[in-house]
Amino acid sequence: MSEHHYDLVVVGGGPAGSSAAYAAARKGVKVALLEKENSIAETVRTSGVTWIQNIKEFGIPDDCFNPIKNFSFCSPNNEVTISDTVSRAAVLDVRKTYRWLADEAKKAGAEIFVKVNVNEVIKNEKGDIVGVKGVGPDGKITFHAKMVIDASGFPSAVCKAMGFVSQWKRFGAGAEYEVKAENVDSDSWWLMVGQEYSPAGYAWIFPLKDNIVRIGVGVGKPESDVDPTQRLKELMENKTGPIKKLGKITPIEFHYGLIPNDGLSRKTVYNNLILVGDSAGQANPLVLEGIRYAIKFGRIAGDVSANAIKSGNTDEEALLPYEENWKKQIESKINSAGRVQDRWIGLSDEEWDKELDIIKELKPEEFLDFIKADFGLSNMIKLATHHPKLAVRQLFNLVKRKN
Ligand SMILES: Cc1cc2nc3c(=O)[nH]c(=O)nc-3n(C[C@H](O)[C@H](O)[C@H](O)COP(=O)(O)OP(=O)(O)OC[C@H]3O[C@@H](n4cnc5c(N)ncnc54)[C@H](O)[C@@H]3O)c2cc1C
Repeated sequence: MSEHHYDLVVVGGGPAGSSAAYAAARKGVKVALLEKENSIAETVRTSGVTWIQNIKEFGIPDDCFNPIKNFSFCSPNNEVTISDTVSRAAVLDVRKTYRWLADEAKKAGAEIFVKVNVNEVIKNEKGDIVGVKGVGPDGKITFHAKMVIDASGFPSAVCKAMGFVSQWKRFGAGAEYEVKAENVDSDSWWLMVGQEYSPAGYAWIFPLKDNIVRIGVGVGKPESDVDPTQRLKELMENKTGPIKKLGKITPIEFHYGLIPNDGLSRKTVYNNLILVGDSAGQANPLVLEGIRYAIKFGRIAGDVSANAIKSGNTDEEALLPYEENWKKQIESKINSAGRVQDRWIGLSDEEWDKELDIIKELKPEEFLDFIKADFGLSNMIKLATHHPKLAVRQLFNLVKRKN
């Protein structure tokens, strides 16, 4: 059994973990980043849509993404395309991006251990976490640490082992094929809604390159018991809706993942422990989007941890600035997005057809703010009170309602 000693142990080499490890190592603390798979991003569990403004803010290189400027929506009997003048959205090359994030952590001084599956926590006499244990390539492995960051994503391996949380009850399950396709409009995405695509969620086509797209289906649990993999196969076989426009499609790789959708229900700081990314439930429920939050709050978690470690005090109170920071940035937006999601999840096909008429009324930046859950309050109030269409006013009233 090998034993290691670090200031900070980060569990999970996804975007949250790599970003936390990067930010902490940059501040000079001794960091270990533990990933259970054979390499960073060995398994892709995401569609990788994010926003160019955030990509630039994080310094992610240009060759890691495909820009998108046309946003098409289809329901059983309606269709809308919102075209922007510039590209504001992007589909990431997930593997390349996640590996770039981990490389940044390594360059900053973090040590990365792959093939380490964390399955136990070490506690001190007060019951606080002071390390983790797991199974590594050469058997049992132990990491002692002043602090631990749980960035293990949906499984929340560390906080579950501490007994702080149980399995997420409400979550999204998504299945996706990355495929080679004959006809790809590389700067346009499709979101497909209605019972046939997904009874509680949506289907998508996200282009990655001139001849490569990701076709996927997301299903809300426990709202629907439909298996997203099965539904995806049916849609691809039947070439339903815009899938037909792709012409001949040849699957390259299958992706499957789960994303929490229980709102911001979790406490995210404990003595010597921070939760970040999906393990903290930091995702926009409307389109189940969490990569930019994982990176942004990963970096904040790393910064706050490094400061606490250097000050010699890593108790809950010392880590609270992390929780205050991320809550201030997204809590009210995520709550608003949750209300829109509750409305969307119950729509019938006919109601979806009408909802698309509302979406047609939005300008590109309004549509994007909406889908990103970046609800600037003054803009939402304007839309809720002054928009000429009653239906649009009703939708935005839902957003601006006080939490
Ligand atoms: C089908 C689907 C589609 C999605 N599409 C989008 C999208 O288009 N845009 C977007 O922004 N978000 C999307 N998301 C959400 C996004 O993937 C997550 O919000 C994001 O990956 C969270 O990052 P994370 O680092 O917290 O967790 P993860 O990316 O899940 O990383 C966790 C890491 O921890 C490792 N790990 C887990 N347990 C252990 C353990 N016990 N020991 C060691 N290592 C461990 C895992 O192997 C993994 O590498 C999607 C999610 C799903 C399921």
